Amino acid sequence: MNRKESAVDPGCIFCKIIAGEIPAQFVHRDDDIAVIVDVNAQAPKHVLIMPIKHVANLPAFVQRESPEALAKFLSACGNVGAEQGHNGFRVVFNTGIDGGQTVDHLHAHVLAGRHLTWPPG
Ligand code: 5GP
Ligand code: ZN
Repeated sequence: MNRKESAVDPGCIFCKIIAGEIPAQFVHRDDDIAVIVDVNAQAPKHVLIMPIKHVANLPAFVQRESPEALAKFLSACGNVGAEQGHNGFRVVFNTGIDGGQTVDHLHAHVLAGRHLTWPPG
């Protein structure tokens, strides 16, 4: 991580959730990753997987993190998906304005529990 970059963004809603300043339903939490239930679920199962350290989006995360950290994050996406969706699941990284990202703290959406259509809107 760039030393000038802070691990926490004081204006970031997900950093506040991770710090316990805003309540959320945690599915998992360790030193590197938090998994919370999405407050505006788009499927019967809808959780968000995020790094504990603040980073804006997927390209920044890939640039900053070690292969081991990236592998751990991807593993978490697969494991959480398999736990949440017994019949399949979807993992989505909305990225940037055109990608529909509304919270600039990297998160993977895991959606499951119903048949998901394609393409998304
Ligand atoms: P994005 O639009 O950035 O891909 O996804 C942001 C997600 O965060 C949305 O699905 C939204 O419902 C969720 N979200 C926004 N604020 C909160 C919050 O305060 N708590 C929880 N649990 N989810 C939130
Ligand atoms: Zn943050």
